[in-house]
This record gives sequence, C-alpha cells and structure tokens, in this order.
Amino acid sequence: MAGRIPQYFIDQLLNRIDIVDLIDGYVPLKKAGANYKACCPFHGEKSPSFTVSPTKQFYHCFGCGVNGTAISFLMEYDHMEFREAIEKLASGAGMEIPEESQGFTPKQTVSEGIDLYQLMNQVNEFYQKQLRQHPEKQEAVDYLQKRGLSGETAKRFGMGFAPEGWDNLMSTLGVSASAQKALLDTGMLTQNEKKRTYDRFRHRIMFPIHDHRGRVVGFGGRVLEQAEPQPGNPKYLNSPETPIFHKGSELYGLFGARGGIKVADGVLVVEGYMDVVALAEAGIDNAVATLGTATTPMHLQRLFRHTPNITFSFDGDRAGRAAAWKALETSLPSLQDGFQVSFLFLPDGEDPDTMVKKVGKDGFEELIKKATPLPDFLIDSLTKQADINRLDGRAKLSNLAKPLLEKFPNGVLKKLVLERLSALTQVSPHDLLGIEPPVSQEPFTGNSSYGNSSYGNSGYGNSSFGTNNKGYGGGKGYDGNNFRKFNRAPQQSAREPYITPVRRAISLLLQYPKLHPEFEVLEAIPDEQVRGIGMLHELRRMCKENPTINTAALLERYRGQPFLDTLAKLANHHHHNLETLEEEEAINQIQGTASKIIAEFNSSQPERIFKELEDLQKRATLTKLSPDEEARKEVLASYIRASYK
Ligand SMILES: [Zn+2]
Repeated sequence: MAGRIPQYFIDQLLNRIDIVDLIDGYVPLKKAGANYKACCPFHGEKSPSFTVSPTKQFYHCFGCGVNGTAISFLMEYDHMEFREAIEKLASGAGMEIPEESQGFTPKQTVSEGIDLYQLMNQVNEFYQKQLRQHPEKQEAVDYLQKRGLSGETAKRFGMGFAPEGWDNLMSTLGVSASAQKALLDTGMLTQNEKKRTYDRFRHRIMFPIHDHRGRVVGFGGRVLEQAEPQPGNPKYLNSPETPIFHKGSELYGLFGARGGIKVADGVLVVEGYMDVVALAEAGIDNAVATLGTATTPMHLQRLFRHTPNITFSFDGDRAGRAAAWKALETSLPSLQDGFQVSFLFLPDGEDPDTMVKKVGKDGFEELIKKATPLPDFLIDSLTKQADINRLDGRAKLSNLAKPLLEKFPNGVLKKLVLERLSALTQVSPHDLLGIEPPVSQEPFTGNSSYGNSSYGNSGYGNSSFGTNNKGYGGGKGYDGNNFRKFNRAPQQSAREPYITPVRRAISLLLQYPKLHPEFEVLEAIPDEQVRGIGMLHELRRMCKENPTINTAALLERYRGQPFLDTLAKLANHHHHNLETLEEEEAINQIQGTASKIIAEFNSSQPERIFKELEDLQKRATLTKLSPDEEARKEVLASYIRASYK
C-alpha cells in the first residue's frame, strides 16, 4: 500500500501547478471571459461546455456534469491512480513527494535493464503476427470462425496465436540471457524442476490483457480444441502474478470497453474472455471478465470509477448462485447510495457466449435490464433459508441478516433494506442491527432541508447539480472517485436557483477562500445548531491556517467523503448567474448571506448568543478570561454588532 501523501503537500502542489496548462496539453483550451473553454473530452459535443477556472483550479462541464481538480483530471482522462496523478503533477512542478510518506516501494517494472511493459508489447506483436503468418495459423483461424468471431473482432481484441512447440517465443524474443530473465519475470516463459526454460503458452489462442492504462500486462490463452486436454494443460491458462500483473485488480476487456460502458451507462461482468469477445461480436461493448478469480474490492473500485451500475452475469446453477452470493458479499461495503449492483442468472447450461447467439443483442440487453437487483437477491436468498411464518424462522432470518447489514455503508439503501427485513421478520430495525439505529454522519444528506431532495426540488433538479436518481438515493461517493457525475441532463436555467443561506455561504467561501475573515462572525453559532454550519466553520479554519489555499485544494481535502459531490456543486454555483464576482460584490454577497444566517438563528434561538456574551462579560469582572474565552468574547461581540446591522 502506498503511504499517505500529506495534505499540506497536496495543498502546495495544487497551488504551484496550473490546471489550465495541464488540461491544455490534452484538450486545447480557448479563453472565454475569466475562464477557459473546450468541447468536453468526457462526452461528445459540438459546442464547448467544458470550463476550466484558473482561479478555482477546477474544471466543470455543463453538458455532462463532470468536474474536479487537476488530480481528478489525470485520474479520469488518463486513467491514473490517485498517487500516480500526484506523482505526475509533482514531477512536472519539480516537487518531490515528502520522504516520510513513501511507505511503499515502487513496482519493479524493469528487469535486467528491460522495461517489462515494452517487452509485453513485443510479445503481443509476436502472437498477433503468428495468427497472420504462421504456417499453422489456419487451425487458429478455423477455431475463431467456428466460434463465430469475425476478423475485425479478433483484431480489435488483439487476439493472437501461440503455435505448438516449446520455444517459439523464447527463440524469437528471449535470445540473450537478460531477455530470457525478463520474459521469465513477465511469466511468458516458465521453468521446470530441472531448470529447463520454455514457452508458457503453447498451441493456444492468445488474449492480451490490458491494465487500466491500456498497457499489455498479461495474457490469457485458450487451448485449441485439437489438443487433448491433459493435466497441467488446462483449457484456459492465465499469466501468473508478475510485477506488472495482478489478477485481483485487473479485469479483462475493461480498457477497451470504457466507451461502451459510458454509452450503456453500466458494465456487465462475465466469467471468461470468450464471453467478452462473443458479446462484442454481437454488438454488446460493455462487458468485462474477471481473470479466474472471484470479484475483489479492487475490481469493484475500478468498475465504479467508470459507471455506477454493475451487473454480474452468472450461471443459474448452484455453483453460479454461490459465486453470485460471494460477489454480493464483496459488493456490500462499496454500495454507496447511487451505486447499483445487479445479478443476471442465465438458464442452466448457458453462458453469455451461447446465450447471446440465441437471443441476439436486443434480447440479451433485455436480460441485462431485467437482472435481479442486489437488494432483491439478498432478501430472496435470506428468506429461502428461513421460514418466516415461524417465530424461530424469523429469529434465524434476523441472525443471517445481521452480519450482512453491518457491511452496508450508512445510507438510504441500508435503511431501505433494513426496513424491508424488519417488516419480514417483525423485528425492529434497531434490534436487527443489535445496535443503536444508524445516525447519518453526513451533514449534507438525510432528510433535512439540506438533503438532496431539497436540492432536487429547487431548480437544481434538471441541471448538472441534480442528483443521480437511478439509485436508491442521491448521494454518491467512492474513494478517489468523488468528482464524477453520471447525470447527463443539460443545464439551462435563467434564474439563479435557490440555495439556503448556509449553502450559499459555503459556496462563497469555496470560491473565494481569501475572503475567509468575512465569515468569522458566524463562528458564534455553535456546530450542530444550524445544519451545515459546522462544515462552514471547518472550511473557514482550513482557509485561515493556509492562506494560499485554493478551491481545488479545499475540495481535495474531502476526496473519498460522501458530501464531496455537494461541495463540488457549491464550488461551481453561479452567484447572480455569474461565473465570477468582483471582490467587492463577493464581499457584499458574503455579508448579506451572513446577515440572513444570523437573523434566522436569532429567531430560532432568541437571546442565545446574547446570553453567552453576557455570561462571559460577567465572568470577566470576576476573573481573568483565558485566551480562548477572550477570543470567543470577541466573536460573540461582533456577532451581536452584525445582528443590529
Ligand atoms: Zn462533458
């Protein structure tokens, strides 16, 4: 695991680099007022709605709703991991990530001076060339044709041919000792007990496996049918774990399916490469396959970076159901509200390859649409194991449910599943969990006036500020992935949509962090007394501690937290429908907003602040106040002055 990168370093980095230069290197930007614009690289469009703000160091698309910082841009556009993105930005800015944070050793991707990625490219070319030119290529071509694959599809997936023989690859690419060692490190060669070295893949159709950046990192090989399956010669053979290939984090076909996943707004996870390829042949371009392992949390994290909708396809038999149940258990902790997992159970004896040949593209897509939602699969499976007409059956159900419920992240989905199980077992949600009922820890979600519902109903509903309504709730969020939006409705509103005063204050602070002293008066209102005020205070303190902090750095501090999405929207809110305000106007806005918050608080808790100040003043006549008390007295006094403005 990578060590933590200190927050101060990320702040400095985001202060040093320029997001305009960075994005301009990928997508040429044009100046438009205070900002820069381009046609959005994340969705197809003819007129530019992708905006980059040099002051906020933040991008936003009014067409598809994507937004984020320079770090998010590299993660989204260049498919980098969080740390990779930081490393790239840091090296561009001539900055070094602080030593103490480097609690990990970089992956060894060079062997004997040979770059393993480059080597794998050569291996890939070698196998593809064999499929075109080898004297025995016909049996491979015949096989692919028999499976109904066109030359185009074979080419698109980079399929190749490993001819019969022990050293086809070795005698071509592994002539020198160092090259042989590097090929052993990539798993393309293998050794027996007598240290004899030979090609791992022989007489097979070869499927290159790409990582999240499109680099070939391994291969899958399907034995040609003429060969007798023998022990030690399995039907499907994968590259072993190597310095550049980890089955637990890679998915076959994901890199090539990115576009298809976006269009379909979902991904289908199948079990084999042939399924992925056969589905693509039929025109279904959003399938990926695990590589002979069960689904891992890392897989889910990868997939949820591309779409909020995952459908797993399994055989309908007992083994398929067991595998599905395992995938369900792995999925539960990632099910933030807005993310959906479904299960497609195929009839006995069918796999996606055979099924799509029977029912065609439309028929198969219909099956995906009708896949069983995870909550239904969960509840059905549980109720099958216990007779809910009996008291002891309901007790059993509640026992089975408890460990699963505990895996859900807090949110609307958990609440809904809990309610349904509670109705079935007639055990209270409280007792089902065996703990206090879950309290929302998220200041911005839940049923308050700050919840997504009020957002959705206040004119933001049709804009890119709207929430994703496909899930069981509005909130979204996933580690390293929180700037993403999946809502594609265009934004067009003439009037500035209504936002509550506290949200407006947060929005202004995010956009004009240098004006943080203007917000200090609100410090008089204790956290929790007004919804969201604690968040405002927290942000204000960050600005105070770090006077050069910008919008992007403030948002980065909330990466991985569920309300980041809301903050990103607020960072992008157009006050008075203007992209930016003059400083004087921004100060006016802040003061007006603060007055509203103060007036509302005074009417809900009249005298509260007055009383607190009075008490402090009384104490001051008796004893010397501590510095904290003095500071508090100052804040309270300025609050009272503001109350009479
Ligand atoms: Zn866009």
